[in-house]
Amino acid sequence: MTVVLETIAAARQWVRTERTGGKSIGFVPTMGAFHDGHRSLFRRAREQSDRVVVSIFVNPLQFGQGEDFARYPRDFARDLALAEREGVDAVFCPEAGEMYPDALPLTVHPGKLGKTLCGPSRPGHFRGVATVVAKLLNIIQPDRAFFGQKDAQQAVIIQWMVRGLNFPVEIEVCPTVREPDGLAMSSRNAYLDSEERANATVLYRSLRRAEDLIRSGVRDVARIEQEMRDMIRSVPGAELDYARVVDPHALGDVKQIAGEVLVAVGARFGKTRLIDNLLAAPPRAVTSGQ
Ligand code: AMP
Repeated sequence: MTVVLETIAAARQWVRTERTGGKSIGFVPTMGAFHDGHRSLFRRAREQSDRVVVSIFVNPLQFGQGEDFARYPRDFARDLALAEREGVDAVFCPEAGEMYPDALPLTVHPGKLGKTLCGPSRPGHFRGVATVVAKLLNIIQPDRAFFGQKDAQQAVIIQWMVRGLNFPVEIEVCPTVREPDGLAMSSRNAYLDSEERANATVLYRSLRRAEDLIRSGVRDVARIEQEMRDMIRSVPGAELDYARVVDPHALGDVKQIAGEVLVAVGARFGKTRLIDNLLAAPPRAVTSGQ
C-alpha cells in the first residue's frame, strides 16, 4: 500500500521511521498527471533505493501570470493507483498553504542559469522550481533524488543548487521517455488537439537534424541553430520560442562545437508550450556519459 502524506510533519515522521530502520530513501518530485516519463523515474528510484517517495505538488510559484496553473491536469486518484502499481512507498501531496504559509516566501534564485533557454519567456519560473525543490529536499531528506533529462535546464539548475548549497543528496538525471514518433512525453501533451499533436513532432525532428549535423562534423553552431529554426518555422501552427546549441553544464553560448553540447528547443503549438532537448557530441569527442 502506498502511504499518502499530506503534511510536512507526517512526511518527516514517515521518513524518520524508515531511516531508523536503516532504509535508504529515493525521491521523485512531480506535478502529477503521470505518464511513462514519470514511471521511468519511479522505476529507477525503486532500483536504487529501499524506499521510494514521490511528491505530487502543482507548484504555484513556478507558474507565471497567464500560464496554465489553473488548468494544469490533476487526477490524484489515477496518479495514486499508478504509484501503487509501481511500488511507490509514499506519496507526499501537500496543499499550497502547507508549502507556502508566508505571503512572501523565501526563494532561491537560479541566477544566470535561469536567464537562458526557457528563462526569457518564463520569468520567475526557475526561481519557483529551485525554491520548491529546495523545500522538498529539506522535507524528505532523501539519499537520492531523480529528475528527467526532458527538463534539462531544470536539471542543471538543481544540480548547481545542490552543489552550491551543500544539500546532502545525490541527483540522478534520467533519460527522456518518448512517444513512438519521438515526441517527448509531457503532461502538457494532453492539451494538444490532433493537428497540434502532429505538428509537435517537429521538435524532435529538429533535434535529430541537429544531431545528424553535429555527428557528421558540422561545428558551426549558427548554421545548426538556423536549420532548426527554419524547420520549426516551416510548420504552420508552430510558434518558435528558441532553438539553441549550448554548453551542457553552464548553458552558455557555444560558437564552434568541440565537445558534447546540449541541443534544446521550445515552441508553442496553439496555447501549449512544449520543450525538448538532447545531448550530442561531434565525431570522436569525449562525452560526459550522461
Ligand atoms: P513534472 O511532473 O512534469 O514536473 O515532471 C516530474 C519529473 O519528471 C521531472 O524531473 C521531469 O523532468 C520528469 N519528466 C517529465 N517528462 C519526462 C519524460 N518524457 N521523460 C523523462 N522524465 C520526464
